[in-house]
Amino acid sequence: MKPTHIEHIGIAVDNLEESIKYHEEVLGLECYGVEEVPDQKVKTAFFKVGDTKIELLESTDPDGPIGKFVAKKGPGIHHMAYAVPDAAAKLKEAQEKGLRVIDKEPRKGAEGLNIGFLHPKSTHGVLTEICDHKE
Ligand code: ZN
Repeated sequence: MKPTHIEHIGIAVDNLEESIKYHEEVLGLECYGVEEVPDQKVKTAFFKVGDTKIELLESTDPDGPIGKFVAKKGPGIHHMAYAVPDAAAKLKEAQEKGLRVIDKEPRKGAEGLNIGFLHPKSTHGVLTEICDHKE
């Protein structure tokens, strides 16, 4: 199953407010939504760039995935998210091909997307998110 586009690029930040300011004042993008996702222990901010979005991720808990990432690697690009017609089918396909996955089945992410992650050990170092917009 072929992705239709890059849904978003996830960027881990250590200061959401400052990073929003940079994206607005320097890059000229407009933040259209800020959302807390308690499940992932993050606060997110979104910007549209054509069909793709930029998702800023600030940790709300040092033990959460973004908190650990920033502590280890510092702020920066965290993941790539590919939009597919059916995330559940794509995750299944990846597992059938022997890939290590973080999510065997999709769960609800920010903006109501169905999301699942492939493990960076199986994706040449890039934490890869698969998502669809199904209800
Ligand atoms: Zn994401």
